[in-house]
Amino acid sequence: MKKSEFISKSRNFEKRFQKNQTIFNMLFIIIVIAILYLALSVERLSSGYGLFLPTVFIALFFVNSLLSNAVRRYQISNSGLGCKSCKENLLAEKGDIAIATGNCPICGEAAFNDVNKLD
Ligand SMILES: [Zn+2]
Repeated sequence: MKKSEFISKSRNFEKRFQKNQTIFNMLFIIIVIAILYLALSVERLSSGYGLFLPTVFIALFFVNSLLSNAVRRYQISNSGLGCKSCKENLLAEKGDIAIATGNCPICGEAAFNDVNKLD
């Protein structure tokens, strides 16, 4: 991949990545509200179930962080933004270093297919 291709691809990736994270967070909030609503309507019928709600919320936050990490890893591994030599993902500051120097910050080899001219 050429450096210019990498730059435009990485910009598109960041936009898509943020959009997906926003959608994911919105879905999570909707699920939390739905569960809260259900729990409150159940509570009206049968009172006192002690640790049920806190347990559900702790479980939900745990599931959310696991899921969002999985989604993030999937997106990153499918980004195609890898070093041409070692195939390591060049995202965020690693990508910035690669763009600035032309070399991969992990293996030190040329990160892109076009030669980095110093003129
Ligand atoms: Zn590399």
